[in-house]
Amino acid sequence: MKIVDVRATTVAVPLEAPLRHSNGAHWGRFIRTIVEVETDDGLVGLGEMGGGGESAEAGIRALKSYLVGHDPLQLEQLYWKICNPTASLYNNRAQMHAALEFACMDLVGKKLGIRACDLLGGSLREEIPFASYLFYRYRHSQTGCGGEETPDEMVAMAKDLKQQYGFRTHKLKGGVFPPDHDLEVYLALAAAFPGDSFRIDPNAAWSVEEAIRIGRAIEPVRNDYYEDPTWGLDGMRRVRSMVRVPTATNTAVVNFEQLAACVHLDAIDVILLDTTFWGGLRQAWKAGAVCEKFQRGVSVHSSGELGIQLATMLHLGAALPNLAFAADAHYHHLADDIIEGGKMKYVEGKIAVPSGPGLGVTLDAEKMQQYAELYRSTGGYPYDRDPHRPDWFAVVPERRFAQPKSANKG
Ligand code: MG
Repeated sequence: MKIVDVRATTVAVPLEAPLRHSNGAHWGRFIRTIVEVETDDGLVGLGEMGGGGESAEAGIRALKSYLVGHDPLQLEQLYWKICNPTASLYNNRAQMHAALEFACMDLVGKKLGIRACDLLGGSLREEIPFASYLFYRYRHSQTGCGGEETPDEMVAMAKDLKQQYGFRTHKLKGGVFPPDHDLEVYLALAAAFPGDSFRIDPNAAWSVEEAIRIGRAIEPVRNDYYEDPTWGLDGMRRVRSMVRVPTATNTAVVNFEQLAACVHLDAIDVILLDTTFWGGLRQAWKAGAVCEKFQRGVSVHSSGELGIQLATMLHLGAALPNLAFAADAHYHHLADDIIEGGKMKYVEGKIAVPSGPGLGVTLDAEKMQQYAELYRSTGGYPYDRDPHRPDWFAVVPERRFAQPKSANKG
């Protein structure tokens, strides 16, 4: 089996409402690049990458000369061809490699009649639990959906998501409003769902000292972990030394050098593995194996996925022996998907690992056309800008936090 062609198509898929975070917002749609790798026996493997547009598509096409003639089963060769670390200073291709590796694993699985998780040693579980991922949301201009800011509004959203999807773990995406507002919302969530577990992630928006103050205040909660309250390995190490809650990161440890430093410094407890940021499904799984040997916890991170990337997260979750936490996904905030059969289903807070060969998902050609057209008509947006605060940008450590409605009323 040899690769003969590679294609990249940008799509925009609507969210139920714009999602706010500490650096800006997801403006009401996810922009993703769908990668298709075709072989000489007519198989097509699927990959997915964050962002899109002409430059992203051209970036994938530019790697065609590395790919044509390559046997998709030679996954380690693919990694060294594209991500040789001694050349990565000049060509940071980790995320493009991830999309191509997903497609190659999909191809190999289809060819051999095995699943992507089988290429990682096989499945240890067939359902992956997920956390409700609670964002402060802007109101959708047409549907009226969203607009949650206050503790009562956030608890109501969590109750609605729990009823729809069955989540038993709740994650608050903080860092938009002042830290005490996040604390108030987090404690209200913990009080509303006794027996469930919780995590808070302000996307590294707080100083070390603020992170210590809030961390101490949440100690009585049934916390899974305290995710990126501040930035950098040493900042996180200092927070960990002062707060009795396990810490977690998807920002300070996203490659193997940082993972080694994390272990040497005893800096962070739980590493959130992202199949894109780490450069692929196999790279994320390898990082999980390092964590297992050093007794670091792992979970599955979400960087804003459609069904193809969600499938990679499910296969990763299936194959990680040390997965002890519910995974994260933005997926339930999407209004639709580009895979056949529509959005994957949550049952009691879990999604089943796809049973078909490869990644186990198939593109819906009509949906692809519809959402490629939506991208062409609406275009992209900068992730680190807030459409409702055009003059604002994030500065650390002196943040200019938004003021919540509850504070205005007071
Ligand atoms: Mg995070």
